[in-house]
Amino acid sequence: MTESVVLSMSETPELSSQGPAAPAVSELNPPDRTLMGPGPSDVHPRVLRAMSTPLVGHLDPTFIEVMNEVQELLRYTFRTDNRWTIPVSGTGSASMEAAIGNVVEPGDTMLVPTNGYFGGRMASMARRAGGEVVEVDAPWGEPLDPADVERAFERHDPDVFGFVHAETSTGVLQPEVPTLTDIAHEHGAYVIADCVTSLGGVEMRVDEWDIDVAYSGPQKCLSCPPGASPLTLNDRTMEKVLSREEEPRSWYLDLSLLEGYWGEERAYHHTAPITNVYAIREALRLVAEEGIEDRWARHREVAGDLKAGLRALGLEMNAPDDYWLPSLNAVRVPDGVDDGAVIEYLLAEYDLEIASGLGDLAGDIWRIGCMGYSARPKNVEFLLAALEEALSAQGYEG
Ligand SMILES: *Cc1c(COP(=O)(O)O)cnc(C)c1O
Repeated sequence: MTESVVLSMSETPELSSQGPAAPAVSELNPPDRTLMGPGPSDVHPRVLRAMSTPLVGHLDPTFIEVMNEVQELLRYTFRTDNRWTIPVSGTGSASMEAAIGNVVEPGDTMLVPTNGYFGGRMASMARRAGGEVVEVDAPWGEPLDPADVERAFERHDPDVFGFVHAETSTGVLQPEVPTLTDIAHEHGAYVIADCVTSLGGVEMRVDEWDIDVAYSGPQKCLSCPPGASPLTLNDRTMEKVLSREEEPRSWYLDLSLLEGYWGEERAYHHTAPITNVYAIREALRLVAEEGIEDRWARHREVAGDLKAGLRALGLEMNAPDDYWLPSLNAVRVPDGVDDGAVIEYLLAEYDLEIASGLGDLAGDIWRIGCMGYSARPKNVEFLLAALEEALSAQGYEG
């Protein structure tokens, strides 16, 4: 034994020469950006401070208390009394896949929208869950029409209906949510709402609007780094999930297992991302301090000023006022202006991030986020001034 240890120690220099040398990487020093894109948004300093506090164990009695607080704050923010309200470890796509992957069983049919990027992601997840996907159509840049949803229900009789409340790819807010949930429930279906870009930014009421499952992400209107993502399910849906014949295909996101950790028992399933749970706790505390309705009003007002300023520059919003999404402002790129050059100019000259269009709207729009801590009057003034300059550098005269 001793001999072999000595032998291997004497071989150490040779062994290390077989692998790569230690990379000379400098200390992290990211630029000081202002984040006005589709997410992440600027993080509130209090959230950053919460993230630099010491770790405790994920079963520490003080952490159990933190978990309870986060669940209560999430219920407040979602406007729900659902017991099943948790932060899922991972980004918004993790809470999205936890929702779809648990609710959709092999052989179930899920109805998804085609009017934006994230309806497409819902479809992919439903197929991977073993579901059959049917679609309700609307053009990119428009909301779903309840009459079309009704027709799709009559034709396909889906078990699950997913819709995107705030479509980040198009800047469209889905109106008439209670009408949609009524249609689904009359047909005995479960409703899953993508609230990633609405939670904590625009009016969203899980219980009053009769939404069965809602998921969100932390880095949009909650202004929290990505890592722990809100999810809520009502009892009726949880009954379906807990009585599945086949286990969900993901072990990590299996809600019947996560129940052991976030439910009564508080037993180990996976190690919670402690720091991200601290972060979302602080972000949600900021929501509660401001008051959820005042927060919705702030987003409307600040983004309303942004919209007025954009129009004063001669620009046109992609969404009509009836379904304008305050947290994500889609603006049409004027003729003769290179959308990418403007984005690059803002980033290079002003450390200011906005984004281009996706999918059917690529090249046609800019996407300007007005979310959480980024939704402040000073950001709007800064953005309008910088954008005016970037446009005139492109020869645009308004
Ligand atoms: C951002 C976003 C997601 C996905 O969230 P990630 O955090 O990027 O995984 C899902 N749906 C909508 C509407 C989004 O804006």
